[in-house]
Amino acid sequence: MANPLDKSNPAFHVEGVTKVYGSGASTVHALRGVTLDLPGGELVVLLGASGSGKSTLLNILGGLDRATEGHVHFFDSDLADMDDHDLTLYRRQHVGFVFQFYNLMPSLTALENVELVTEIAENPLDPAEALALVGLTERMHHFPAQLSGGEQQRVAIARAIAKRPTALFCDEPTGALDSVTGRAVLRALQDVNENLGTIVLIITHAAATAEMADRVIHFADGKIRDVVVNKTKKSAEEIIW
Ligand code: ADP
Ligand code: MG
Repeated sequence: MANPLDKSNPAFHVEGVTKVYGSGASTVHALRGVTLDLPGGELVVLLGASGSGKSTLLNILGGLDRATEGHVHFFDSDLADMDDHDLTLYRRQHVGFVFQFYNLMPSLTALENVELVTEIAENPLDPAEALALVGLTERMHHFPAQLSGGEQQRVAIARAIAKRPTALFCDEPTGALDSVTGRAVLRALQDVNENLGTIVLIITHAAATAEMADRVIHFADGKIRDVVVNKTKKSAEEIIW
């Protein structure tokens, strides 16, 4: 497989993707022809109004859902050609997810939550190292109920990156957080991107987050309205929302 850190070679090449939900009078055209490259190692922010198709695109990129038409190339593979078993392997080996709600196991410590993943991954990070990367060394023996929302989200990030995915797909990761804890989550995502070279794709309503991205994708009505490549990036601490 190509080197995911090679920015000149897009890790993902999305070509003419459409997604239609339902049929007849209840048909929804969630994606109306999306074409897009995601180069290796970038931090990408996806902005757009509610209902514009952002989560649908993220779910298709991550192999949680399938396009109605079009292709999603991940290096030399096309997700459209994969059967369900291949798609499961793709998800398991190459992508991580972070959602608005953390979905941690309440009866396991932070460390044990991460170990759940590292026990079944092929070449995992050390669980304590994954937690260190998101700034939680001091808290790794705490249970979720003993952690703030932002800390729980950072455990979820550590869990998602512990298998060293090529891409981390984050759907409104700061949606339930205040600005201080949200910024700590963005810092963790920036550290993951910079230290591991993971592609980090963040869907957010906080438009200022775009200032920390390499690439900003504006979505409207199931299509890409424009893509901006930032010349300079801000650190998470400089983001004001
Ligand atoms: P966003 O994440 O930008 O808010 P979504 O991708 O969730 O947008 O949704 C895009 C459109 O597709 C919306 O009109 C939404 O109601 C519709 N949609 C999303 N998921 C489904 C589904 N599973 N079944 C039917 N319609 C859906
Ligand atoms: Mg959404």
